[in-house]
Amino acid sequence: MKIVSAEIFGVKVHLSPRHHSPVGWRPIILKLTTDEGITGIGEAGLAYGLAHNGAVGMVKDLVEAFVIGADPLEREAIWNKMHRHSFWGGACGPVINSAMSAVDIALWDIAGKALNQPIWRLLGGKVNPDLRCYASQTQFGWNDGMIPLGEAQAYGEAAARAIEQGYDAIKVDPIMLDESGAVENPNNLKGALERKIIKRATDRMRSIRDAIGPDIDIILELHSLTSLTGGQRLAEACAEFDLFMVEEAVNYNSDKPAKTLKQRMPHMRMTGGERIFTRWQYCHYLEDASFDMLQPDFCLVGGISEGRKICDMAHAYEVTIQGHVCGSPISTAAAKHIETSIPNFQIHEHHVYATLQPNRDICLQDPQPINGRFTVDETPGLGLDLNEEYVRKNSPTIIKLGA
Ligand code: MG
Repeated sequence: MKIVSAEIFGVKVHLSPRHHSPVGWRPIILKLTTDEGITGIGEAGLAYGLAHNGAVGMVKDLVEAFVIGADPLEREAIWNKMHRHSFWGGACGPVINSAMSAVDIALWDIAGKALNQPIWRLLGGKVNPDLRCYASQTQFGWNDGMIPLGEAQAYGEAAARAIEQGYDAIKVDPIMLDESGAVENPNNLKGALERKIIKRATDRMRSIRDAIGPDIDIILELHSLTSLTGGQRLAEACAEFDLFMVEEAVNYNSDKPAKTLKQRMPHMRMTGGERIFTRWQYCHYLEDASFDMLQPDFCLVGGISEGRKICDMAHAYEVTIQGHVCGSPISTAAAKHIETSIPNFQIHEHHVYATLQPNRDICLQDPQPINGRFTVDETPGLGLDLNEEYVRKNSPTIIKLGA
């Protein structure tokens, strides 16, 4: 079997009138086709932030150089070429590693279809028959089409709506939005933080805890907006709400702040990983014992192949896994297949973006948790088909390669 052609879709859709991104929601999707007529799809996990065009171009370069004409079942050899023969694979970064992820995930999809097996079975089978999910980013509301929240009371109400839907865990960022629900100036979130920022955050967290009661887990998300001192101060201020995890309290520009924070707060559970790439970057955080749970994004770290290796490395350090999911349904599916198959699975992220119709329409299937839990099925490969009519209509950039 050989890959004979590829299409890269630079998607652009608007998730909601109140979506705060200036550039919209821009998943990068790769479709590979073989000479046997089997197709596979993958995603480069840069649908948000500013790297969309870089990833579209990077996927094109990798597919032209190493994928067209290759045997799709030779995943490790193709991965190694992308890593070793591209020059830039010799470092770690969002553009190259997201593009490698798109290729790798599409190859796994083809392998599953060729072998008539779901990817989770090729990864070792069903260790976790179902996946506990949390409702992620409830500062954007929940179940209401996405309304960024200002008032503390609204934070409690949104979290309560998620719990009514069957979730028993939520994640919220109580600092990224100001009193009106607009994005806070990041410069106001540096250093030791002003007292009014701390109070706004704790008022919102108290509203949530009061609304959902004592039995629900809460992840405090800080999006690396805080630096070491402010991240510590906020985590200390929110400790009274019994946090499940504190996520991204510091940045990843180096691995030192995460290590220092964990050493300063050994009893607080820390998590992060959505901006760490490949096993070579993850190993520093594991050796430093910086995190209790890792959040590799399988559309960013180098795909399912690399993601599985990172999960197994984490297991050796007694660190659990929550795949970071913030993309199209392909991102959700990639995480589900790995999380089903690993013994150190902790919890699955169901992002508010994954609940919004313009994102759900990207594939013909619509993976949504039931009662806060996900299960996998026997569909070969990823278990998804691209909604090609919709994707073509909503892709300002489409690149065709090969025959
Ligand atoms: Mg996050």
